[in-house]
Amino acid sequence: MAADDANDLRRALENNEIVPYFQPLVELRTGLLSGFEALARWQHPQRGLIQPNEFIPLAEKSGLHGLLTGKLLSAVFAAAKDIPHHLTLSVNISLTQLTDLSLPKHICFAAEHANFPLQRLILEITESALVGNTEYAARIATELKEQGSRLALDDFGTGYSSLRHLQLLPFDELKIDASFVRSMTHTRESRKIAAAIVGLGNSLNLTTVAEGVESQIIADMLLWLGCDIGQGWLYGRPVPPEQLSEALAERLNSSPAPISSRSVAESSLPLGFEALPTQRLAQLNAIYDGVPVGLCFLDRNLRYVSVNKRLAEIHNLPVASHLGRHISEILGEEKFKYWEPYLQNSLKGERFSEIEARCPDPRHPDIMRTFLVSYEPARDEVDEVIGVSISFVDITSRKRVEEALAESEDHYRHAVELNPQIPWNAEPDGMILDASLRWETLTGLSKEESLGTGWIRAIHPDDVTPTLRAWEKATRTGEPVDMQYRLRCVDGVWRWMRARASPRRDEDGKIIRWYGTLEDIDGHKKAEEALRRSEARLQAIFDVVPFGLVIADAPDGRVVMSNPRAEDILRSVVAPPTLIDDYCRVSQSNAPGGTDGHQPGNPLAKAIMDGRTVGPRECLRYHDDGTSAWVSLSAVPVFDHDGKVSGGVITIQDIDEEKREMERLAELASDLRNKLATHR
Ligand code: C2E
Ligand code: CA
Ligand code: CA
Repeated sequence: MAADDANDLRRALENNEIVPYFQPLVELRTGLLSGFEALARWQHPQRGLIQPNEFIPLAEKSGLHGLLTGKLLSAVFAAAKDIPHHLTLSVNISLTQLTDLSLPKHICFAAEHANFPLQRLILEITESALVGNTEYAARIATELKEQGSRLALDDFGTGYSSLRHLQLLPFDELKIDASFVRSMTHTRESRKIAAAIVGLGNSLNLTTVAEGVESQIIADMLLWLGCDIGQGWLYGRPVPPEQLSEALAERLNSSPAPISSRSVAESSLPLGFEALPTQRLAQLNAIYDGVPVGLCFLDRNLRYVSVNKRLAEIHNLPVASHLGRHISEILGEEKFKYWEPYLQNSLKGERFSEIEARCPDPRHPDIMRTFLVSYEPARDEVDEVIGVSISFVDITSRKRVEEALAESEDHYRHAVELNPQIPWNAEPDGMILDASLRWETLTGLSKEESLGTGWIRAIHPDDVTPTLRAWEKATRTGEPVDMQYRLRCVDGVWRWMRARASPRRDEDGKIIRWYGTLEDIDGHKKAEEALRRSEARLQAIFDVVPFGLVIADAPDGRVVMSNPRAEDILRSVVAPPTLIDDYCRVSQSNAPGGTDGHQPGNPLAKAIMDGRTVGPRECLRYHDDGTSAWVSLSAVPVFDHDGKVSGGVITIQDIDEEKREMERLAELASDLRNKLATHR
């Protein structure tokens, strides 16, 4: 560096070639513009734009810095006319200026001259500027503060003994050096340092500003860490005063909302609080203690770092008695042994959610309580597990209800199990939705094989068409269905089944589901068939015997069956369920041999009532046409398995001709007798 350079700089200052460029500062939480930092540029007539690192050190060395700052401040204050009043302006102060006791006065003068309120001014002091001269620095800083300006500690983290500076000077802001911020996305150490500086700033109640915010990912990370303000290319590069209004319009018009909502929505922020970090903490605390869930946080050594009120209640111990103690001391060795694997794996990053645990209520040991316990590894901003978060949800009452429900469900299932009917249900279009276990054991078809139309494969080929037709009709018309088919059972045997189903409808009448039952009617069906066969056999006999036969039920004598011969003899149709009485009304009867005497009435009724065979009895029966004929009636009771009379059979013989022949013979005989008597 030559003396020419110093002269060149002095000339430049006189020609106002040193100008401030303005770079926006943005509130990370809202994306709103909060101010600008003024950064010096040398607009050199020959060399073009010169960056500050090339001429600031020169200015300091050649004692031109006071002049430079004065010129720059005037330019900044002048430009401030076009900047909204709520926005701050930051200016950099260099090392040598902090030994100049007249600096506050100069600033004050320039501000008054430009009618600029010093409350809008932030003076950035780099750490390196503070080495030595702390006594002067403290005096100057205090005076600057008294004038209304704010102080920022610039490039924090790059200099020496930074913490002492924070203690010595009344700073309002802490600026995290861009070198940490820019590398946050790829170096763990940078993230750690950035996190630590933000934490330090928050705890000292300082506004934290991050320089070098080049991407949204970094902005999100900083917001998550609790950093207040960001500055960097993401929000804009430094612009000359003539482009300021353009930059302003862009930032003020571009609605900040998308930025904020984006950063809140897309970042890994646990809670989108509209509050300052301290308020946020208070809110979190209130939530922590207020939720009806037991919560605690254990560090890597399984010691309680925090416990909420609810968990303290569950343990029946004050919150304070937990803190710093190992979990085994609170839970006891036995319980700790049980939970230890969960804790250890959680520390390795594994999550466990809703593990059910039962334990006696510490206050009422006879009451068992049920909890859902979840383990969640807690990670720091560099994704390292730093402890375990545990939650306990008391589900005792819910559990009780569930148990009661399960019990009644059990009852229900049992009832269904006892019921010989197999339940099934189907979609409105007839697709089978569900088949019970009993269907599976009956057919040997799995549930998967049976769903939809799979069940058809178990139906007898002869029954498939009628079954499908009936089912199709039912699903089309919505009418209940009742069908019978043979089903191939797991043993290969066909069994007759009866399937019935009714639709369930919604309030608009639309079918939402078919509910059906399947019933094994094979026994029934076979018995029915056997009966039909024996009935047919019986009918054949009935039809050929030369006498009338009528079968009637007990106790009222309703006709069940009759043969054509009976109708012939009785000269009327003997059809079920007429009373047999109607056919047996007789005028006169006499038993062969006449021992029974004259006894009107119905022999079948007597057989049924007395349970013994009656007859044969001869009766004269009058027909509807007024003629009469002799019949011989005999009745036998029919007994069921219990020995009770279930009905009776009456046989009817046409004895009219024979009877009349006999009568004729008897008449002839009496004639003969009379003739013999008169001859005598
Ligand atoms: P600084 O005060 O830390 O200023 C921030 C520097 O970071 C500026 O460089 C700025 O252009 C740059 N920067 C801003 N955003 C980003 C980003 O997203 N990525 C990267 N890579 N860089 C970014 P600039 O303007 O070259 O200033 C360099 C340094 O010169 C300043 O660092 C400051 O210490 C000093 N300086 C600038 N103007 C003045 C001044 O008027 N007076 C004094 N005493 N020093 C000044
Ligand atoms: Ca600065
Ligand atoms: Ca800086």
